[in-house]
Amino acid sequence: MIKTTDIKEAYDLYRLHMRKLADVRSALALMQWDQETYMPVKGSGFRAQQVATLSELAHEMVTSEKLESLLDSLYEATELNDTERKNISLTREDFLKQKKYPAAFVRKMSETISRSFNAWNLAKKENRFSLFENELTELVQLKKEETEILGYTEHPYDALMDEFEKGCTVRQMDHIFDNMLPKLRGLLEKIQHAKSPDDFFLFNSFDKKNQWDLGMQVIAELGFDFEAGRQDISSHPFSTSFNKYDVRITTRIDENDFSSMLFSCIHETGHALYEQGLPESEYGLPSGEFASLGIHESQSRLWENHVGRSRAFWKFNYPLVTEKFPEAFRGISEEQFYKAVNRVKPSLIRTESDELTYHFHVMIRYEIEKMLISGELQTNDIPACWKEKYRKWLDVDVPDDTRGCLQDVHWSHGSFGYFPTYSLGSFYAAQFFSRVKKEDPSLNEKMEKGDTGGLLHWLRQRIHGSGRIWKSGEICKIATGEELNVTYFLDYLLEKYSNIYEI
Ligand code: ZN
Repeated sequence: MIKTTDIKEAYDLYRLHMRKLADVRSALALMQWDQETYMPVKGSGFRAQQVATLSELAHEMVTSEKLESLLDSLYEATELNDTERKNISLTREDFLKQKKYPAAFVRKMSETISRSFNAWNLAKKENRFSLFENELTELVQLKKEETEILGYTEHPYDALMDEFEKGCTVRQMDHIFDNMLPKLRGLLEKIQHAKSPDDFFLFNSFDKKNQWDLGMQVIAELGFDFEAGRQDISSHPFSTSFNKYDVRITTRIDENDFSSMLFSCIHETGHALYEQGLPESEYGLPSGEFASLGIHESQSRLWENHVGRSRAFWKFNYPLVTEKFPEAFRGISEEQFYKAVNRVKPSLIRTESDELTYHFHVMIRYEIEKMLISGELQTNDIPACWKEKYRKWLDVDVPDDTRGCLQDVHWSHGSFGYFPTYSLGSFYAAQFFSRVKKEDPSLNEKMEKGDTGGLLHWLRQRIHGSGRIWKSGEICKIATGEELNVTYFLDYLLEKYSNIYEI
């Protein structure tokens, strides 16, 4: 029997270990951020080595005997409070999962991933899937092995989704997509038969500096704390965090496409506001980490779509746009602008798609991954399968591999099971936003005045503050009173587009 004082001491040692681990991971994240932003070209060789060393160190700390014995002595200790007990049980789950991987498997996976990434880059550049096929086949094989290492109850793909969205299963995703896609398809058909709003004025010439200034102004207005974060330029927008007081976001500027930078700024700000809202005292512990990728994405999409693409938001912000770009938007009303940034158009590229067709892109990837992992589809059949599904669901012809199955980086990283979190993010976002509106009927009026402080406060209270203590479904229930219900998302789209397209 361990004494209470020993339990307290053991918990302090556990917390110290976890904080040191977080320090190593933050250093790693800072190096990776630097690699994408400011690192000189010649720095890449040593940087890869430094990243590998720190990754190894982090892995040693996650699987160390010291941590194991602390977790053993603390597991089920009744002297701990609820949060402390939850931290121990979550860390123990992570520990046991990491322990399942044989060292040889980890090495083989990381080697295959770095070869795959290079092959994918080349294949995309050369527009030839065959240049990526062998590596992808090896990777799929390893991922199949991984599902056996991790274990699953119903479908092997469940084991992979669990990595990104704990507890998410094929049964659940199939149910969501089967129920939703015919409705989205019906709405899309109606939209395609209606008169489409003009958006030619979004593809003009937009000075880079003015775009940057506008983006920074909007980010600050939404509540991004510039004393606890910064924005920089990178080739692909992303967000990363070292702790709640140092959160980095990046963007890119397209001089001929107005929407590209602004909406990526708002999207990444949504991610950043979540990280800046995590509890300081819980640094390094599960209670100080984000809940899941789906919940993370719900925050970026809530700000990007429910705020950034709303009429109320533009009522306040459109004057800023016309002040920065008087020529480009001369004679264009706020309503025309609002409709243009919400235009629906089936397209080939996922990251450029609208709020409605986006989910077809996700579902197609989900279906293909599921079939690859279950063995129903072979890698050499991917390009044909991709084309067939794009024709069936979006009525578009895929002209080549670069604009088809080679467009996303995920597979080359071995990230199978990641895509569904994007759709889940949108569905959670709609449910959260609907709840906030219900609790504060004046939210729209406030947004028209540029006031989103109350919304941020709600998110901080209901979602950000509890870290990873609750699973996504539990957070949803605590925040909104019910489990994930995709009806909120469908209703939101229906209301928005019936107004814009007059259908
Ligand atoms: Zn995102």
